[in-house]
Amino acid sequence: MVFILKNNARKEKIDEFIKGWEDKGFSTIWAPGTDHNAVCLIGNTASIDMDAVVHTTDIVEYARRITEQYKAANRTVHPEDTVIDVGGVKIGGGTFTVISGPCSVESRGQILTIANSVKHSGAKILRGGAFKPRSSPYSFQGLGEEGLKLLLEAKRQSAMPIVTEMMNQTQVPLFEDVDIVQVGTRNMQNFDLLKTVGKMKKPVLLKRGLANTIEELLMSAEYIMSEGNSQVILCERGIRTFETAARNTLDLTAVVILKQKTHLPVIVDPSHATGMSSLVPPLSKAALAVGADGLIIETHNNPARALCDGAQSLDLEQFDMLMDDLRLRAGLEGKTM
Ligand code: PEP
Ligand code: MN
Repeated sequence: MVFILKNNARKEKIDEFIKGWEDKGFSTIWAPGTDHNAVCLIGNTASIDMDAVVHTTDIVEYARRITEQYKAANRTVHPEDTVIDVGGVKIGGGTFTVISGPCSVESRGQILTIANSVKHSGAKILRGGAFKPRSSPYSFQGLGEEGLKLLLEAKRQSAMPIVTEMMNQTQVPLFEDVDIVQVGTRNMQNFDLLKTVGKMKKPVLLKRGLANTIEELLMSAEYIMSEGNSQVILCERGIRTFETAARNTLDLTAVVILKQKTHLPVIVDPSHATGMSSLVPPLSKAALAVGADGLIIETHNNPARALCDGAQSLDLEQFDMLMDDLRLRAGLEGKTM
């Protein structure tokens, strides 16, 4: 059940209201919004008379039952889009934010060259893997801490916020200056990791699991939010289907459904979804057309020599051309890039 609070509700009254429910054995989630704040009640709420609550307290505007398992992520709790501010860059709520950079940080020259180029093309956030979850233990595993240092140098030089993947809880201290923590597809249901990033005070980019449903993705977001971190960005990055012609199948239906079910921003990763650079531009445009809030695109200064995911990486010129095209289309949709 969710209680949407009146705008003039005083803090002491809200605290008293929350404590009252907690004393009765319910858990609560505080869901702040730009228009209204809300309090979600978790527990067996079947016998609560919603109208009575609305009439006997003077801070509740209205109440709704939420039948879905995810509460804090639910659009019912927070009808307007959540806008996440990443060092001044907005994700969600009418923007189309493009994140770009290499699959993995490979060298100082590589990451600085790519950072400067994608920034010039209009990317707002820089990506780059330092700790890489590879299917084979014999593949390049990323530069680790050294890679993170180089990514942080690229952040300082380019003045772009950065996103990079955290693989486990022990890495938290290394992520102090990282702007967005990525939880990768293979870790979408690593519940300990979700609880850990839920306790961090930074945005989390949560990628959909290879074979997870939309509902499961939302429940993973709920894990993060229930720990107090409401800054979750969802990412559709392709799922496993019977189709083998592309690396994965980009589920654009999920983008539309997610936008209906949750207030959280939803971005698309056409690189991992397809595995082929020639498919990235058309699917990037498709993502914009179905209402995604942005993209995360892999780019490389020399894709043929990339240590990871070269086949799906755009070179810097291809990325620049795609950005010109996206800017035109985003403008027609009334979105700012
Ligand atoms: C990545 O973004 O580099 C990555 C490994 O993505 P995913 O977790 O979606 O495979
Ligand atoms: Mn990759």
